[in-house]
Amino acid sequence: MPLHVSHHPLVAHKLAILRDKTTEPKKFRELVRELTWLLGYEAMADLATRERAVETPLETTPGAEVEPRVGLVPVLRAGLGMVEAMLELIPTAEVWHIGLYRDERTLKPVEYYNKLPDAATVQVCLILDPMLATGGSSAATVDILKAWGAARIKQVSLIAAPEGVQTLGYAHPDVDIHVAALDSHLNERGYIVPGLGDAGDRQFGTFAGPASEPGHGPDDETAEVVRRLQRDLDR
Ligand code: URA
Repeated sequence: MPLHVSHHPLVAHKLAILRDKTTEPKKFRELVRELTWLLGYEAMADLATRERAVETPLETTPGAEVEPRVGLVPVLRAGLGMVEAMLELIPTAEVWHIGLYRDERTLKPVEYYNKLPDAATVQVCLILDPMLATGGSSAATVDILKAWGAARIKQVSLIAAPEGVQTLGYAHPDVDIHVAALDSHLNERGYIVPGLGDAGDRQFGTFAGPASEPGHGPDDETAEVVRRLQRDLDR
């Protein structure tokens, strides 16, 4: 399975602060950015390079430049916080937005925005989503990117659930998955446990939605989807 869990001590340290429920949105955004930087560095370690001669003040020497064109595909909205860090690493990357929302009941992805041109303009795509939960949005995004013509696709997430890794790995075994941690499971509301809560709300300070209200219980349909994913995992 092409799952890469970072074992870097800085990643582990920053992730612990990110998970902490007392970490406020400003700090949370900074950590998302720093973790994306570290994971992106690892995820792009195998990008092909071509040689290019460089003139130093002393002489000409062989240098390298990244060969493939890279596309960043943030899963809206939580993936937006990972874009700037990736652009710092690879400023020539193109950023393509595909809007999929997770139906709160069925947890299935629904496409609402896609302005990809007819033919692929990049060879390598990095899907950016802090939480690889059910894997449904990621698998659907990979479907779209493959149909577009992207040759190589990687997923970069901060935390993954086993259910999401299985869904994405089963649908697209050729997609490398880079994460800071593989957590225990999804709860009946589709949240990763222990996780960090809602990555979008924690970045953008939007805690007033119905799901945040005390007493908001799991929806039957959502819980059934999670149970089905967990049954698949046990097989
Ligand atoms: N999305 C989140 O933001 N958090 C989760 O735990 C799962 C999906």
